[in-house]
Amino acid sequence: MIEKTLAIIKPDAVGKNVIGDIVSRIEKAGFRILAMKLTRLSKEQAEAFYEIHRGKAFFEDLVKYMTSGNIVAMALEKENAIDDFRKLIGATDPAKAEEGTIRKLYGTNIEKNAIHGSDSMENGVREVLFFFSSGEIVQNS
Ligand code: ATP
Ligand code: MG
Repeated sequence: MIEKTLAIIKPDAVGKNVIGDIVSRIEKAGFRILAMKLTRLSKEQAEAFYEIHRGKAFFEDLVKYMTSGNIVAMALEKENAIDDFRKLIGATDPAKAEEGTIRKLYGTNIEKNAIHGSDSMENGVREVLFFFSSGEIVQNS
């Protein structure tokens, strides 16, 4: 099935000047970029995006980190996008991520792990619409 997923290049990776390399890896893996923007989250936006983690020990630090610098949000589309993208980025903890994954290459630690990918088809659609209006999502014929 053709699925949508939201990717976020997180502040640590933007700070390492590797936006271009990450976008290149995403394209080479066969994902279509439907929309893309460089932006910075407010505290309120970061809290809303990670609402599901509210109350966890790492929540406040996560919000601080995600608002600490620019991010790049991308709406991606591909057959089997959710699973394939999570394979491309690797495990949450970069130290445990497979060789060649984006988190292994560019992640700093379990919190500052370079990139986000949606974890289900429902969340893929919800998260894409968190960053982009439906009119901003350009369909590939
Ligand atoms: P993401 O949702 O960003 O793609 P994920 O699905 O691999 O990552 P989640 O469990 O959804 O992992 O956690 C969301 C984010 O919260 C992680 O990407 C990481 O930045 C941070 N995080 C998760 N677990 C921890 C932890 N134990 N300590 C610190 N930060 C954490
Ligand atoms: Mg997650």
